[in-house]
Amino acid sequence: MSIAGQYEIDTDPALVPATMLAAVYRGVNDVRLETVPVPKIGSGEMLVRVHSCGVCGTDLKKISTGSHSAPRIFGHETSGVVAAVGEGVTKYKSGDRVVVFHHIPCRECFYCRSKTFAQCETYKKVGCTAGFEPSGGGFAEYVRVMEWIVEHGTVRIPDGVSFEQACFVEPVNTCMKGIEVLHLQPGETVLTIGQGPIGIMLSVLAKRTGTRLITSDLYPERLKIGASFGLERTIEASRQNVIERVRELTEGRGADAVILAVGGNGLIRTAMDAARPGGRVLLFAQTQHGEAVIDPAAVCVEEKTLVGSYSASVDLQEESIRFVMNRDMNFERLVSHRFPLRQCTEAIELAAHPQPSSMKVLIQPAASWAL
Ligand SMILES: [Zn+2]
Ligand SMILES: [Zn+2]
Repeated sequence: MSIAGQYEIDTDPALVPATMLAAVYRGVNDVRLETVPVPKIGSGEMLVRVHSCGVCGTDLKKISTGSHSAPRIFGHETSGVVAAVGEGVTKYKSGDRVVVFHHIPCRECFYCRSKTFAQCETYKKVGCTAGFEPSGGGFAEYVRVMEWIVEHGTVRIPDGVSFEQACFVEPVNTCMKGIEVLHLQPGETVLTIGQGPIGIMLSVLAKRTGTRLITSDLYPERLKIGASFGLERTIEASRQNVIERVRELTEGRGADAVILAVGGNGLIRTAMDAARPGGRVLLFAQTQHGEAVIDPAAVCVEEKTLVGSYSASVDLQEESIRFVMNRDMNFERLVSHRFPLRQCTEAIELAAHPQPSSMKVLIQPAASWAL
């Protein structure tokens, strides 16, 4: 892959075809590469040719649980080039390099006023689609960006910043939101359990607040990648007891805050036990309703707080854009696998079953190497 390929889409964006390839969700664990119509745009809307779209844990959850009706085209960490603009669009023109958010809250309702944006009804309306029920649409060659997203949820990519780097704006925003919930103080000790791409991002952001970071993962490969981002205090959970080791590193108390960046409910108890009395535990990847084992006295007697965070915050949009576009963190290095759209099923399969050295998986419908 050429470096130039990171910054350009070779084909003329003005030549929009009638049909395109897309990864269509057809039911539980059933995503197929299909030819579908290129979406039509109305006034105030834009058509974006997708260069890169990250495969996110929430896409995988929707695909594996059947929580959403089929057919749909998922993908919401989308960067690309404006291919066409509808009547009245003046902010952008064909050829502009952009990142699009797939939903933006109204900023006026009860939930927006109380800053619980993910519960806002407008926020729940998805404003990007490649066809069918709007669901992001980034796993397709072209995505239709609706009016309110053109207005409030589109970000221009500065020269010199790659599409790959840029498509991290949304996941970074969700991580910033999680860190904010923890109210970290400089000097506090934070443990992050899980060093996949999200765990590494959360850890780097937590460290920037002046905290002392400890990371743990079963796989040394992941800890090594984390260390290359400055996360050098590590616990190899396959060989060491995480709770004991964290207590050793904190005069026997436990971490001031614990971030759980591993899905499922199996490590909630570990995360709570690794926190000191009065400490906080952030559940960042527990997206499924169900039952879990918690120790009620850890909450009542030891006054540990369980907090959660989900999705992005519009209040953190500027900060997340700055962080990504200034390249405060090199996200290209977090990408372990890049797939052309025709290999979308392999991409989803790999992201759903991460390997020790797999990190962020991108689908790149229009990367020049993938055409
Ligand atoms: Zn996501
Ligand atoms: Zn609202």
